[in-house]
Amino acid sequence: MTDVQRAAEPVAAEGLMEKVVGLAKRRGFIFQSAEIYGGFRSTYDYGPLGVNMLRNVKDAWWRAMVQLRDDVVGIDAAILGPPAVWAASGHLANFTDPLVECRTCHSRWREDKLEGACPNCGGTDFTEARSFNLMFKTHAGPVEDQAAEAYLRPETAQGMFVNFLNVLQTTRKKPPFGIAQVGKSFRNEITPQNFVFRTREFEQMEMEYFVPPDEGPRWHEYWLAERYRWYVDLGIPEDKLRLRHHDPDELSHYSAGTADVEFLFPWGWDELEGIANRTDYDLKAHAAASGERLDYFDPTTGERYTPHVIEPAAGATRTMMAFLLAAYDEDEIGGERRAVLRLHPRLAPYQVAVLPLSKKEALEPLAREVLHLLQPHFMCDYDVTQSIGRRYRRQDEVGTPWCVTVDFDSLEDRAVTVRDRDTTEQVRVPLDGLLDELRRRAGDA
Ligand code: ATP
Repeated sequence: MTDVQRAAEPVAAEGLMEKVVGLAKRRGFIFQSAEIYGGFRSTYDYGPLGVNMLRNVKDAWWRAMVQLRDDVVGIDAAILGPPAVWAASGHLANFTDPLVECRTCHSRWREDKLEGACPNCGGTDFTEARSFNLMFKTHAGPVEDQAAEAYLRPETAQGMFVNFLNVLQTTRKKPPFGIAQVGKSFRNEITPQNFVFRTREFEQMEMEYFVPPDEGPRWHEYWLAERYRWYVDLGIPEDKLRLRHHDPDELSHYSAGTADVEFLFPWGWDELEGIANRTDYDLKAHAAASGERLDYFDPTTGERYTPHVIEPAAGATRTMMAFLLAAYDEDEIGGERRAVLRLHPRLAPYQVAVLPLSKKEALEPLAREVLHLLQPHFMCDYDVTQSIGRRYRRQDEVGTPWCVTVDFDSLEDRAVTVRDRDTTEQVRVPLDGLLDELRRRAGDA
């Protein structure tokens, strides 16, 4: 039996963003960077709960893209790179946004995102657009001259192309095979906005899948379906998710076909991930610039070819935000309204909260025994403050799927109460079956 009432109306889109941003700050998911100094240019820090969740997003991606496959391997490449890499990739010449300046207030905007008036002052008089390169430039070493110029990577993908031969030679993989990477990227975005949707420092999850040249379109279709399913499996409702194919005039210079996985954000449909057929553009460009032969010799056919590449490129930080927005819900329990994050157990910051019913010292040793039993298997919270009802509500609000309560009967019968976040159903479970019960629930999810 359960007394949960679904809220009559779904949480309204206009209020949703403020609620999720507020919750993210209040409960330690995401803070403004350098907040005590007034914040720093839309950069963000991930707090105790946010770091768990972001890590879970990246782990879920790595599990699906690397661990559960025998055709994809990972790398972790450097963030700093020499200009030669970015010249060959086309980023020095092409990684630009058209920038206009408002003649009234001198704020700068992306021309392609501007809808009429200046969002700052309402002015309508703008300068001509000029190209603005989005890469962060710095210097490696003590001398700030041209020879020491370096760039922070604006995407992780080039690390895979530059290491193509290293991976081929050390793993003995042959096409079709992929190289995956998760890590930070940096773009000097002109108009960062919408919380962590668009920031100057962010994390990406990218994979380059190398295939025989005539198999590009087939594998592109394959990865569109795989990547769409990943979001659905982790709980994004299908009415908030779509694949959108780019029009030919929208395609990047390297792409023979791109489709985005889009999520219905509070402001409308927007990109979570781009899945592109990059053809042999990158390997050919790096081969020409470096003088290395970046191709594959197939010993069975005696054929040598430059593989084509299918790239699913996702944002970890942006995707985490989408998971938070999709999971936010409100309902009523016994007449009291609650906020609940219906996060997939694999993504929730904590899978289990261990809660001694009261602060009384008699419960502490057994509660700690339960905690130590579960900690090697689940990320656990331990909370003794406030009433048990308040503590359940606090765990609901951050998405913890299961609470385990230790009460005075537990001292006698060595059994505990397991409470489910979504149904609020409570069942009594003997301690020696607790780990199996929670594993079963996590496995079923
Ligand atoms: P946009 O058009 O939104 O600027 P993009 O098409 O240039 O993005 P890609 O280069 O395809 O983005 O990057 C792949 C993914 O990396 C994006 O789908 C997004 O999830 C993430 N990403 C890109 N730029 C940012 C950013 N500034 N902040 C957060 N995530 C980002």
